[in-house]
Amino acid sequence: MKSITVQAPAKLNLTLTITGRRDDGYHLLDSLFVFCGLHDVITVTAGDGLTLVQPKGGFANEIGLSENNLVMKAARLLQKEAGIKAGAQITLQKNIPVAAGLGGGSADAAATLNALNQLWGLHWPHERLEKLAAQLGADIPACIQSKPVIARGIGEELFPAPDMPEFGLLLVNPLLPTPTPEVFKAFKAVNQVIAPKQITAFPAAFPDLQSLVDAIKPRGNDLLDAAVSVQPAIKDVLVALHRTKQVRYAALSGSGATCFALYDGVEEAKVAAEAVGRDYPNCWTWVG
Ligand code: C5P
Repeated sequence: MKSITVQAPAKLNLTLTITGRRDDGYHLLDSLFVFCGLHDVITVTAGDGLTLVQPKGGFANEIGLSENNLVMKAARLLQKEAGIKAGAQITLQKNIPVAAGLGGGSADAAATLNALNQLWGLHWPHERLEKLAAQLGADIPACIQSKPVIARGIGEELFPAPDMPEFGLLLVNPLLPTPTPEVFKAFKAVNQVIAPKQITAFPAAFPDLQSLVDAIKPRGNDLLDAAVSVQPAIKDVLVALHRTKQVRYAALSGSGATCFALYDGVEEAKVAAEAVGRDYPNCWTWVG
């Protein structure tokens, strides 16, 4: 039986600037997305109808109906738009923490489109898949290629990102609920009016980690205060990351609660993960 397996990498917001608010209440943003080695895995196997097998992996039990639905919605949408009768059995290995600011659900939906595009021999170029993905959710087009990208609009307008340097990455999540709608609500309560912002353009390339840090530090993440008001543990995680040896930068990803820290290399990130794990044994950590 023909079967295709693809990775669904987690997304990290190295910066997140809120630039406005649409009439429907959605926030406009400017965000530098990068993708990590941490990934879910989607496997599609030829079959009749569309079915999603019970997910496996470390976070399989955390998946709500909505994440499952997004994978199924993606499959149904592609099947309909391609005008085909072929079906598939879909399996999901869930390694990315759920509702954590890492875009796991979006990554799974995009990976489903990529996998079915191959299984069904559609040969759609990524631009066409990205357009379709935008119908499913704002973050999903960026996850079709999973390359560094600058996302604007509500996340669906994609622009080329600077070339990235190599660095060590530590992700830490307190595994406490931080619902995205609540974070945006808290942001809105404090920022009824969003003042226009001057955003300094990025260069074409960041030759080393220092140049990347110098560029992202002034931007930070505009959702930080709102996220901390919803989930105060985020502040403790950031304090812990800032205390780690040789840390070059630490911030919140998306609406949280995952925080990240950048290091010169993976070894430094591993040492930092051990230190954070000792002080906060209930936190989930990942190094890459
Ligand atoms: O994208 P997601 O479904 O996770 O968004 C959840 C909620 O967060 C939305 O219903 C909206 O209230 C808010 N949101 C927003 N602006 C965005 C993304 C989400 O206001 N760009």
